Amino acid sequence: MDPRALPGVDAVLSSEASRPLLDRWPRALLVGALRREIDEARRAMLAGDAPAPISCEALAERAGNRLAEDLDAHPPRVVNATGTILHTNLGRAPLGARAVDALVRAASEPCALEVDLDTGERGERDRAIAERLRAITGAEDAVVVNNAAAALLLVVDTLGRRREVVVSRGEMIEIGGALRLPDVLERAGATLREVGTTNRTRVEDYAAAIGRRTGFLLRAHPSNYRVEGFVERAPLAALGILARERGVPLVEDLGSGALVDLSTFGLPREPRPADSLRDGADLVVFSCDKLLGGPQAGIAAGRADLVARLRRNPLRRALRVDKLVVAALAATLDAWRGARDPGEEIPALGFLLRPVSLLDEIAREACERLQAALPAGFRLDVVESEAEIGSGAQPGARLPSRAVAIEHPELDAGRIAAIFRAARPAVLGRVARERFLLDVKAVLRADDLVPAFSGTLS
Ligand SMILES: *Cc1c(COP(=O)(O)O)cnc(C)c1O
Repeated sequence: MDPRALPGVDAVLSSEASRPLLDRWPRALLVGALRREIDEARRAMLAGDAPAPISCEALAERAGNRLAEDLDAHPPRVVNATGTILHTNLGRAPLGARAVDALVRAASEPCALEVDLDTGERGERDRAIAERLRAITGAEDAVVVNNAAAALLLVVDTLGRRREVVVSRGEMIEIGGALRLPDVLERAGATLREVGTTNRTRVEDYAAAIGRRTGFLLRAHPSNYRVEGFVERAPLAALGILARERGVPLVEDLGSGALVDLSTFGLPREPRPADSLRDGADLVVFSCDKLLGGPQAGIAAGRADLVARLRRNPLRRALRVDKLVVAALAATLDAWRGARDPGEEIPALGFLLRPVSLLDEIAREACERLQAALPAGFRLDVVESEAEIGSGAQPGARLPSRAVAIEHPELDAGRIAAIFRAARPAVLGRVARERFLLDVKAVLRADDLVPAFSGTLS
């Protein structure tokens, strides 16, 4: 076909095929998309790649598809069948209904974010959060910032700048996203004072390191690894006594911020902020979108005088959270406080507590439906699986789960994973021992595992 015979933008726009597109998209957007499609078709022709004539209808359809793709919501919805409940790459904790309502309200209407309605005076945006945390954790006061990394940065900058921060060599952690504790300390202008060894650190090691330049003692929760064997860690209570005797603050970075004692559900015990504060920490730092089940945010909570210093740090303004986070976080904390069954109100916890019998049911149903939806050749099976909490919460805890295993004689596991990623919504599983697995621990319904597959498959 001669490129000059390609329909022009006006011809396509005035064709019948454009009418539904003009109803759906602004004219200018459609014109832009058509130009791109026509240019592309012209280039393909000049390169000899497009033998068939291209009609107005075909161009309109291509432009419509392109617009739909371009303007598809971002980030696209996915189904989390990875078996990792709190997956950082997938947005961590899903919010509960109460938090979503609060968030939508705060997003769409004015709210008293920084106004005290009793006095009419300017207030602090995280006051209401601090009050809730006082009730839940016993913390005297708290600040809320962008995430736990920011909370840690704020603490180090406030209490550790041009001073030494004492940390055990066994807790020199790197958190996902290449956030390394020593780097955070250095950035904030603190000097790292390492004590003990990788596997053993005693209270005496801390005691020997405390001096005139000590800013504070920092304990970090080894949240994404485990050291086993000949291991000793100074108990928090003993560190608390030492810190008080020597007049230096003790800060604990807890990471996940679980508000219930997980051991009551048969899981390994995870220290709660309330436990750490009671046992002797002056400040605790934790995430809000891990086991707390809220929006992305980070909290430093504890002694009122220390929190007051955090509040006065100018960095805090740069790290502050927006109204959406405040609304969702307050609602999430209310859900924790008011719930008879937190597993019902906090989806992340709900997933964590789902019994294998339920997972088995979901996996079987999904397996049957998927078998019917996929072309012949795919072999599906329900298998035992091990899920995990993720996001650095309880790295050792393997949660019994079920998965649908999918195999095909001509497609390797990576190829099958790609097919599920190309579906809408994309379904993300994991590959284990050359098999593609869809773990149902964090999948709400069997239906979620049966997406619309892309054209090439059906
Ligand atoms: C996850 C984690 C952090 C970082 O939390 P973010 O909210 O992602 O910044 C810090 N410390 C520990 C121990 C963690 O597990």
